[in-house]
Amino acid sequence: MRAFADSPPRVAVIGAGAFGSWTALHLRRLGADVTLIDSWGPGNTRSSSGGETRVIRAIYGADRVYVEMVRRAYDLWLQLDPTLYTDTGALWMHRGDDAYVRSSLPVMRENGFAVDQLSVADAMKKYPQISFNGIKSVWLERRAGALSARRACGVVRDAFTQAGGTYRTAHAMPNVTDSLKSLRLEDGTRLEADHFVFACGPWLGKLFPDVVGDAIRPTRQEVYYFGTPRGSERYQPPRFPIWIDFGERIFYGIPDVHGRGFKIADDTRGEVVDPTTQERKPSEAGLMRARTLIAERFPEMTKAPLIAAEVCQYENSPDGNLIIDRHPHASNVWLAGGGSGHGFKLSPALGEMVAARVLQDKAVPEMFLLERLHALKKRETQFDRKN
Ligand SMILES: Cc1cc2nc3c(=O)[nH]c(=O)nc-3n(C[C@H](O)[C@H](O)[C@H](O)COP(=O)(O)OP(=O)(O)OC[C@H]3O[C@@H](n4cnc5c(N)ncnc54)[C@H](O)[C@@H]3O)c2cc1C
Repeated sequence: MRAFADSPPRVAVIGAGAFGSWTALHLRRLGADVTLIDSWGPGNTRSSSGGETRVIRAIYGADRVYVEMVRRAYDLWLQLDPTLYTDTGALWMHRGDDAYVRSSLPVMRENGFAVDQLSVADAMKKYPQISFNGIKSVWLERRAGALSARRACGVVRDAFTQAGGTYRTAHAMPNVTDSLKSLRLEDGTRLEADHFVFACGPWLGKLFPDVVGDAIRPTRQEVYYFGTPRGSERYQPPRFPIWIDFGERIFYGIPDVHGRGFKIADDTRGEVVDPTTQERKPSEAGLMRARTLIAERFPEMTKAPLIAAEVCQYENSPDGNLIIDRHPHASNVWLAGGGSGHGFKLSPALGEMVAARVLQDKAVPEMFLLERLHALKKRETQFDRKN
């Protein structure tokens, strides 16, 4: 832990999802006096970091910034707790254009990530559980896997408190028009600090209507778990990988890890929802679409029973990029969010970036700054798909 010459700066981090918990831990490691608060707790079921698992993989087209963040994130996740990660590899299956994967190859190579092209015949031999009907190209990202999601947030929070940070369950009610001396909490108390970092995921737009507003769109996303055949490892790693099927809709899945079942999710953005009040009951239509994909791609699983489901929300920025910036009217208020369906894996590297920005004035990549949102809003850009 680094010490400050005078008294350490006091930093309040609001939101103990993946982004806020990691930010708080890095701030503490840099020697700040940090308080982390959350309305419902780290990785709670309403948050975007809730649920069982998230994919970590490094293919990001030609986007060097993200590939480097993933490389750093692997180190930080594994240093913190290797049991949070299950290595599976990721199988990219394309019915049409595979330019996204192809364009990633040089930067993947530079960063030490191996990607193999498989012929469809070889893929069928390696993964007999998968039907490759209609698939034109197959790539295997060798290093990729599943991260525990909700559990990881608790592990990061615990590492933070063990390092001397303070955690509280409390609900912040910011009304930011100028720099803050203290933050009003719903229980009637105030939280004093020198810096305030808001890592409030899908709530960020509502908390900062003038600065963020609908630049964060929370969309409803459903995740299903199907029961695998008993007494078999056919749908577990290393025999079964994380997979992505680029059809009209992009479906992806995670093998049966921790006995939770065969996970499948549709990456298509759902309706805009309120993360506080949305009912988390899976829809018949969504379930039917998942069953149709399963019947086509994983024939043995056609009649598998649904054994669990999660309803979550992405917190989409207009271009799918993260948001890390200072509040334009308050020099000691910082915003971190915009995970856009792909942010979880990056959170250790994001937290490090935010902490260095707040305490050491280090720059963050321009693609994460608020400024670009205004330009995007003007062009009414379509919401990008990055995960
Ligand atoms: C179904 C689904 C699948 C995904 N798949 C992947 C994947 O495979 N790989 C990947 O990398 N990413 C994935 N993501 C994206 C990733 O999970 C999110 O981008 C990431 O978890 C966002 O974390 P966060 O900390 O910004 O937000 P959150 O986890 O939502 O955390 C925000 C926290 O702020 C708290 N909060 C809000 N307002 C207040 C307030 N006023 N006062 C106090 N506390 C407050 C909330 O309680 C919450 O805990 C997926 C997301 C979903 C929903």
